[in-house]
Amino acid sequence: MNKRVYLFEEGDKSMRDLLGGKGANLAEMTNIGLPVPPGFTITTEVCTEYYENDRRLPQGLMDEVKSALSVVEKKLDKKFGDPANPLLVSVRSGAKFSMPGMMDTVLNLGLNDSIVNRLITAQDPRFVYDSYRRFIMMLSDVAYSDKFEHITKHDFEHIFADLKKELGVKEDLEVDAAGLKTLCDRFKAHVLKQTGSEFPQDPFVQLQAAIEAVFRSWNNERAIIYRRREKIPDEIGTAVTVQSMVFGNLGEDCGTGVAFTRNASTGDHHVFGEYLMNAQGEDVVAGVRTPVPIDQLATQNPDIYRQFDDICKRLEAHYKDMQDIEFTIEHNRLFILQCRSGKRTGPAAVKIAVDQVGEGLITKAEALARVDPELLNHCLLPVIAPNTKYKVLAKGLPAGPGAATGTVVFDANVAAELGKGGKNQKVILVRADTSPDDLKGMLAAQGVLTEKGGMTSHAALVARGFGIPTVAGCSEIHVDGHNRRFTVGDVTVNEGDEISLNGTLGEVILGSVPVEDAKLTGEFGTFLSWADEVRKLGIRTNADTPEDTALAIKFGAEGIGLCRTEHMFFEGSRRPVVQRMILATSDEDRQKALDELLVFQREDFKGIFEALNGLPATVRLIDPPLHEFLPNREALIEEVATLKAQGKSDPQKEAMLRTVEQMHEINPMMGLRGCRLSIVFPQIVAMQTRAILEGAAAVIKAGGKAHPEIMIPLVGHVNELKVVKAGLEKTAKAVEAEQGITIPYIFGTMIEVPRGALTADEIAAETEFFSFGTNDLTQMTYGFSRDDSDKFLKPYVEQKILPGDPFESIDQTGVGQLMEIAVEKGRRVKPNLKIGICGEHGGEPRSIGFCHKIGLNYVSCSPYRVPIARLAAAQAALGKGVSDK
Ligand code: ADP
Ligand code: MG
Ligand code: MG
Repeated sequence: MNKRVYLFEEGDKSMRDLLGGKGANLAEMTNIGLPVPPGFTITTEVCTEYYENDRRLPQGLMDEVKSALSVVEKKLDKKFGDPANPLLVSVRSGAKFSMPGMMDTVLNLGLNDSIVNRLITAQDPRFVYDSYRRFIMMLSDVAYSDKFEHITKHDFEHIFADLKKELGVKEDLEVDAAGLKTLCDRFKAHVLKQTGSEFPQDPFVQLQAAIEAVFRSWNNERAIIYRRREKIPDEIGTAVTVQSMVFGNLGEDCGTGVAFTRNASTGDHHVFGEYLMNAQGEDVVAGVRTPVPIDQLATQNPDIYRQFDDICKRLEAHYKDMQDIEFTIEHNRLFILQCRSGKRTGPAAVKIAVDQVGEGLITKAEALARVDPELLNHCLLPVIAPNTKYKVLAKGLPAGPGAATGTVVFDANVAAELGKGGKNQKVILVRADTSPDDLKGMLAAQGVLTEKGGMTSHAALVARGFGIPTVAGCSEIHVDGHNRRFTVGDVTVNEGDEISLNGTLGEVILGSVPVEDAKLTGEFGTFLSWADEVRKLGIRTNADTPEDTALAIKFGAEGIGLCRTEHMFFEGSRRPVVQRMILATSDEDRQKALDELLVFQREDFKGIFEALNGLPATVRLIDPPLHEFLPNREALIEEVATLKAQGKSDPQKEAMLRTVEQMHEINPMMGLRGCRLSIVFPQIVAMQTRAILEGAAAVIKAGGKAHPEIMIPLVGHVNELKVVKAGLEKTAKAVEAEQGITIPYIFGTMIEVPRGALTADEIAAETEFFSFGTNDLTQMTYGFSRDDSDKFLKPYVEQKILPGDPFESIDQTGVGQLMEIAVEKGRRVKPNLKIGICGEHGGEPRSIGFCHKIGLNYVSCSPYRVPIARLAAAQAALGKGVSDK
């Protein structure tokens, strides 16, 4: 049997798998001599055992816990459960990856009536009852509320609020010892009434209940949602740390706080955080009282501040990373209760990494490995357009950068329903205070506004982690959730009204404001240039317009990996011409329409080649089934029927309906599309090839450069490619002859049909490049229709039938194997075959890692993902980075 319980002095920071991040770091800090209250950690393996064992603690665990506890007792010269000199502990959750606020913690455990009665003779009674009432609430909420509905924290807070009303006071601190004693009695009576049993008085019963509850909290709803979002595996489980208590609520020379060694929003290099005097940990993080900035500690208690600042420096030097530190001051003595790598915004992550390289703390490679590529998205978050004049309605804390506009909602569930992932409306979630329970709603909102809570409140932390523009602790507003409105002075904002947030400055604005893309900062450029130095993969973009192309180049794209020509067919005045082309009954009529389209497309390509300034562009020939350009079949049937019923007729509509009926396919994604279309209607791709090459010729003749790469989609058999290419070569030669210049064009194909991948050697002989279309390749390898997969893929992922959504991250074992075969076979025939990827996976870090591994030349993704791809490619080349989850 493995050792299940580790004293702090028995562990170290490398043991995160076993002790969780919190337990491992408490052990590490203990061993480097920081003031950490003694304690021990129960391993994550026990969590697994607990679940395998039908939610029961393994036999003998509590004996190991008791013997560890007795070591702690000796160290502190106190005894668990002894009224004369009681040891009190906290029971804390902590998984390998930090999940702030998602699981449960119980403080002041070990108190009971007889201990309390004895303690009040030696200690300040107010403090004793304050600790007891917190403990009753926490243990009941954490350990029993899944069985009994009405003993949540919320219910206890209600009882407290009622008492305060009776006593005629507002703040918790105004309630005296007698009041808190009454509160404890009411809390216990409430527990008895709701559960039918007394609040447990035996400290060991309390301890076991708390340990089990922490294991159960691994599977509470918000923890599950958080893990899914952060891609943290469900199997790893949480550790439980049992730690002797220190008290921040013993009076005015006590306090508690949370601080980052650098600014988590901006990355600025100075200690940044908040604290409260005479308070216990949860008060700061729960957002009930708005805490004070840490700078004030420097004036309030310079000595402690100096010690703290010193510890911050030591911890950063030790961990070589920005740390998020929880501390408590008990009678002017500083204790460190937690440290971990601090969550930070994208801009802060980049600045800190670049600064730390400058400070000689880390190498460039370490800097690159440290920043999660997805975080770079925050650097591109929209901001309010500069020079916009707007009136600030209220100011709060800039808890999450970026600008957001939307309609106000007051309930997280409503936000989830209406917002992203729901009805996709733009909503701003407004709450009195933020609680981790609001996670689902926050993720669905454009932005979040709260009346209370500080920069380090759990929800603000989450907001920053997910790049949600957030204004927190905006005490100027008064939220009346009940009546679904908030007020600022005499202004009332109702549910459904539009507001804007400037999360970068903490501003609340009435109505909407224009937003635009952020400017890329100096550090951002430096950081990505380091990525470019090490990456082996080229980075291209998927773009169909000169504007997108220019944007992507600004973000660092080295060419276009996928230009979808059919997108150009959808634009306003072209659609009727496209329809005429499709409906034509003779070749002459079809050619006439195509000649008109040629004029448009030539200009499109000219613009794109100009924007590319010599960088290559892979242009895909028409791909979707033609009916996508025609009116909707059902609508047409209805219109024609309605006209008939009215005794009227519209021959044009009827002709359209006939064609639409003719072209109707049962399974269009596997029907007449891609190269099949080019074989049945060769004039269309002839026109497109001509447009591409004439556009290129125009640029070249004007003294520029153009490198068109013409891509034939959906090839499954080499003969398809041969036929299409032969036709297009003729057009290409003709254009060159007409223009009197040579155009450096090449032909290539997409590998997106499994048969294409399997016969890549045959295909390679006929082509100059491959580009993996992994959307179709995934669709056809699995036999999943992507557009219909919602219904089954979600349950598949939830039930772990699949490890993840294969349309999000490449299925490396299945689809990936086809890719490897294609690379190997293709290069066997043509060693220098250029191979890229243009499916949406090309912008997803894990898939990019895979593309690096199998030796692709480049990935292509949407413009906004180009910086992410640059970093992910660098991390792949360095062989480390993000996905150790
Ligand atoms: P979370 O993982 O949600 O941050 P923690 O286990 O860190 O939960 O506990 C929350 C807070 O409770 C801590 O920030 C700290 O202030 C307080 N706390 C936990 N353990 C102790 C302790 N042994 N003594 C004093 N305060 C504690
Ligand atoms: Mg904590
Ligand atoms: Mg495709």
